[in-house]
Amino acid sequence: MALTIEEMAVFCKKKGFVFPNSEIYGGMAGFFDYGPLGVELKNNLKQAWWNYHVKRRDDIVGIDGAIIASPKVWVASGHVGGFSDILVECKKCHARERADVLIEDKLKISADGMKLDEIESLIAKNKIVCPKCKGEFAEPSKFNLMFQTYVGPKQSEENIAYLRPETAQLIFTNFKNILDTSRVKLPFGIAQVGKAFRNEIAPRNFLFRCREFEQMEIEYFVHPDKLKECSYVNEVMNCELLTYSAEMQEKNLEPKKYKVKELLDKKIVKLSWHAYWLATEYNFFINLGVNPEHIRIRQHKKSELAHYASDCWDLEYKFPFGWKELQGIADRSDFDLQQHIKHSGKDLSWFDEEGKKKVVPFVIAEPSLGVDRSFLLFMFESYHDDKERGNIVLKLPNPLTPYYCAVFPLVKNKEEVAKLAEKVYKELKGCYTCMYDESGSVGRRYARADEIGVKYCVTIDFDSLDDKAVTIRDRDTTKQIRVPITELKSKLYELFLK
Ligand code: ATP
Repeated sequence: MALTIEEMAVFCKKKGFVFPNSEIYGGMAGFFDYGPLGVELKNNLKQAWWNYHVKRRDDIVGIDGAIIASPKVWVASGHVGGFSDILVECKKCHARERADVLIEDKLKISADGMKLDEIESLIAKNKIVCPKCKGEFAEPSKFNLMFQTYVGPKQSEENIAYLRPETAQLIFTNFKNILDTSRVKLPFGIAQVGKAFRNEIAPRNFLFRCREFEQMEIEYFVHPDKLKECSYVNEVMNCELLTYSAEMQEKNLEPKKYKVKELLDKKIVKLSWHAYWLATEYNFFINLGVNPEHIRIRQHKKSELAHYASDCWDLEYKFPFGWKELQGIADRSDFDLQQHIKHSGKDLSWFDEEGKKKVVPFVIAEPSLGVDRSFLLFMFESYHDDKERGNIVLKLPNPLTPYYCAVFPLVKNKEEVAKLAEKVYKELKGCYTCMYDESGSVGRRYARADEIGVKYCVTIDFDSLDDKAVTIRDRDTTKQIRVPITELKSKLYELFLK
């Protein structure tokens, strides 16, 4: 039986990955604190994302924008006016639910983007009642998700500011600064990783829907006359994606595997830039060992599309509570830059030296991924209840695991063995994330290491004093090999790359 989300939350707390926020005061819904192991895994995840999207490429640069920006930014982006979900409140117990999620849960249909009147009639027609007390719901209403605060010592209307609900807008407001200071040429992207805040009506499913979370986002800018000329699409033509197009959903067909080439030939995905980014994002997870059967791309139906989006696909993961959005990959055209041009009065165009004209670039793909949802994905992918061993084995990928290796002196209280073990530990710690454990039986030490994802345990025993060699034990296979201490570092490196 697969682990439930509640069981995962318990495991994460027990092992020091994630704690409920303000627990000693009764908790705070929608907020979580990452513990000693969680922060390592999360930092490794963000680093892996940054390496893959920024460091290994020449066409993407990064920024780290502030959490609070001028409120004018959020007026221009449309968030002040329209960043809302539809809320229903129970007349009896006053529990508040997000209407589209409630309808999805009850009727198993997608209600994203539905209008107020449609929601109201669906609730009435299907006699949907409060899941907590079976009470009747009052009329649905819109609820803005932005967290509001005041900047400066006066709590007045003119000092209202917002915690950013997404990182993306900072990329658009810095677009001109980046053109002026970096040597970027179209097509190019700007990436950012950072906190976002949304006053979610009903945060639930642990890290899946929180009120404070992190995003890893890219705005990829393309010349408006070259929307169909993706420079890199050939790299991914053979990449196979489990696909669930809007048409398949409308006709009640099952998702199907297509190669990128087929998606483009059959015009399931219209633009090669969009297809390239879908495959690139999918490969980020596949390269980190995620089972391809657990990831699919799903196109937004017309009713779900935001007013500015020409097309949008989500990368979805098969969570224990169903296929859910992990990442949105929207075609936003030139909507955002045009909005900021209009509202700021500034020139946010790019000068095309070849065509000798100014152009406002299009964002054909805005890959927007949640850090916390990805963290959850890797916990579910890695979690194995090994009945034979009698313990959990967390098979985290090498680049993400909090500790790549551990050093165990096998004979306690034997000074020479402990001394050698400490020496080996210090040397390894200079190169790898490494822990030292000398308490309990070796079996217990292996089990503890397995449960937090340590990939290799290095044991030092009596023989090590003579043969100057140690034993490396693999977390996933439990196979052991004997390696000379002088070759240990390079052997672990060789194994890391495998
Ligand atoms: P949903 O429909 O699930 O509310 P969304 O479509 O509003 O998500 P986006 O605005 O596209 O989400 O945000 C991009 C990504 O940020 C999401 O795919 C998700 O990974 C992450 N994200 C958004 N909201 C939350 C949240 N409340 N908690 C955790 N992660 C989130």
